[in-house]
Amino acid sequence: MEIQHIAVIGAGTMGHGIAQVCAANGYQVTLIDIVPEQLDRALAAIRKSVEKLHAKGRLSDEQREAALSNIATATELEASADADFVIEAVVERVDVKKQVFARLDELTRPEVILASNTSSISITELGAATKRPEQVIGMHFMNPVPLMKLVEVIRGLVTSDETAAVVVDLAQRLGKTPVEAQDYPGFISNRILCPMINEAIYALMEGVGTAEAIDTVMKLGMNHPMGPLELADLIGLDVVLNIMEVLHEGLGDDKYRPCPLLRRMVAAGHLGRKTGRGFYVYE
Ligand code: NAD
Repeated sequence: MEIQHIAVIGAGTMGHGIAQVCAANGYQVTLIDIVPEQLDRALAAIRKSVEKLHAKGRLSDEQREAALSNIATATELEASADADFVIEAVVERVDVKKQVFARLDELTRPEVILASNTSSISITELGAATKRPEQVIGMHFMNPVPLMKLVEVIRGLVTSDETAAVVVDLAQRLGKTPVEAQDYPGFISNRILCPMINEAIYALMEGVGTAEAIDTVMKLGMNHPMGPLELADLIGLDVVLNIMEVLHEGLGDDKYRPCPLLRRMVAAGHLGRKTGRGFYVYE
């Protein structure tokens, strides 16, 4: 089946970036969010990003035009009824996602693939909320979506080879590099990234080095573009804590226990850039 029309559910940080990339690459997009203001904000953010990428020569005239004209918006999931492919990017809550998947299963044609952009929720569990678990898959884009090349493609326990092949092909058509992973907690990306960040927080807590020292070692010594603590501030310390809890519970190994300092910072509301304070202070 040829994919022409993609429904993107959730118009937040990730949903608007996914919609932009799909539209710029020639797909008709319906961007759906239950909060109308989120849709307004998403369209404004897409316009800004598209103009910037076009000015830098990273989007052609044709792609700019497509990105600006191929996106329709809606506040009801019913608007996904004639989509050929669905990408879900709603809040990271298992109850909300399962409800959305169950409803998408009723609304969309039976052959349609339902993909989730989740960072940490089990694809197998989302599949089980539908009658088509073979066609439920993870399609994990990175933030900011228009700039980051990676898409992790995550197979649930019963996701079919055909479904995985379609998603790999779609990711390539979007100009991304797909990498396949199995459905274990954190997949590949967060299984490795978040324990590294957590260990950096332990090093800070134990006084091994200052935040600046830890970040400088990882940048200059390991060639990481950002240090783990500044990256944690960018991701959000609440998000990092949540993923560590998923790893700890799902894998049952104490090596994934969240650092007590991470818990204290989240309890204090020092969540990183979004609250103006994390391991660093942002004016
Ligand atoms: P966000 O909070 O910015 O946006 C979520 C959006 O979902 C909001 O606009 C909200 O109104 C909407 N929403 C909530 N319930 C809905 C429903 N029932 N139907 C339709 N829309 C609904 O979140 P985000 O950062 O864009 O994250 C979205 C997903 O992407 C999560 O699963 C997250 O784990 C994943 N993810 C996030 C990042 C990141 O860096 N932010 C990176 C990779 C993956």
